[in-house]
Amino acid sequence: MIRSGNVRGAAEVVKTANAFANVCGSVCPEEIYCQSVCNRAKEDTPIAIRELHFHATQTEARSQYSRVRPFSTGKKSVAVIGGGPAGLSCAFELTKLGHRAVVYDMQGPGGVPRATIPPFRLDNAVLRSDLRFLTTFVSIVENRVDEKMFETIRNEHDAVFVAVGLGKDRPLGVPGEDLNGVVPVLQFLERAKWGSGDVKPGSKVIVVGGGNVSLDAAATAKRLGATDVTLVYRRGEKEMRVWKSELQEARAQGVDIRFLTNPVRVIGEKQVSGLECVRMILSGNVDASGRPVPVPVPGSEHVLPAETVVVAIGQEIPEGAFPSLRRAPKGYVDVGRNFATSLKGVFAGGDLINGEGTIVLSVAHGKEAARSIHDYLTESPS
Ligand SMILES: Cc1cc2nc3c(=O)[nH]c(=O)nc-3n(C[C@H](O)[C@H](O)[C@H](O)COP(=O)(O)OP(=O)(O)OC[C@H]3O[C@@H](n4cnc5c(N)ncnc54)[C@H](O)[C@@H]3O)c2cc1C
Repeated sequence: MIRSGNVRGAAEVVKTANAFANVCGSVCPEEIYCQSVCNRAKEDTPIAIRELHFHATQTEARSQYSRVRPFSTGKKSVAVIGGGPAGLSCAFELTKLGHRAVVYDMQGPGGVPRATIPPFRLDNAVLRSDLRFLTTFVSIVENRVDEKMFETIRNEHDAVFVAVGLGKDRPLGVPGEDLNGVVPVLQFLERAKWGSGDVKPGSKVIVVGGGNVSLDAAATAKRLGATDVTLVYRRGEKEMRVWKSELQEARAQGVDIRFLTNPVRVIGEKQVSGLECVRMILSGNVDASGRPVPVPVPGSEHVLPAETVVVAIGQEIPEGAFPSLRRAPKGYVDVGRNFATSLKGVFAGGDLINGEGTIVLSVAHGKEAARSIHDYLTESPS
């Protein structure tokens, strides 16, 4: 369609399939998804699928959008708790299937792409392009849903989809973690993005972690004026689960990456002044993630100076959140293949059921769950 000049038609196809089309066009890791399996790569290079999607949807957004007609919806209503990629995608798909969807979100819609992804990677205007389109179809209620309200919502709607993501940073679990200057990564990134310019990490920043989120934190620290940014990761480069482009970018910005290094203690009086670390080696044993288990090298303790330590070792479900939903062994919400939880009529998806994922994976969960909810609603007597 793009080649034949029908860019608007191309945008409509992409947007109908993917509720976060503009956002994915901007920050989807194509190197692990579409472009890694593109047949064209056998000839020369893969087709630039992400960029083409982005070109189509942004061209359409600049021309003030195609005219959208709301779908006619039936009597069944579904509550969606969490307005991130999974929740909004589910709500959009439900509307397409003829149901009413009401999205409850404690911060307003957008999820992690709105709250946390740094603006130098995802322009807020790009997210707004998707939200403006989606809010034509679904209504949003700004409210935090606790267990009591969850109960009420279940009684008021015919089905519920829960997609509240993972809102809590995993703690380091070493002495000194409560010192001033030790900051959980979601808080660090949110304050840097939305604070009133009051985030001053100092010149020496250490980021602990080996994922994309830790690279975002390192790049943010650089942009906030830190001169020495060190990334500390307990395994080797091969075991790091990051997108190559982000790692290259961090290196280009001068981030000092210390592989096979693990923190054992945060040092300081009231304020952090350093991080004591130990060298690691990879053992022959493999953990649940399929990677070799790192073990400390005795006597290799050393101190790295720091004014701020950002903890980016993963996220988990906040304690006390949705206790009535059964958990799987890894601690996430347990669902069957059709996204149904342990409670009748309650479905779940996104990071909440799988741990940290990607936007497009959450969008896919939302879509597939909507189809299961549709089956549930049309099979049960009204
Ligand atoms: C720093 C960072 C950078 C990332 N970068 C990328 C990237 O470049 N590309 C990519 O594909 N993925 C990226 N990801 C991963 C991606 O953002 C997530 O996988 C995705 O957002 C998960 O979607 P979700 O809908 O499951 O949850 P979320 O996006 O977490 O949305 C959950 C929503 O639920 C709301 N909520 C929570 N609790 C309640 C409650 N009790 N009541 C009401 N509402 C509630 C929250 O306000 C939030 O809006 C990144 C993640 C992080 C943390």
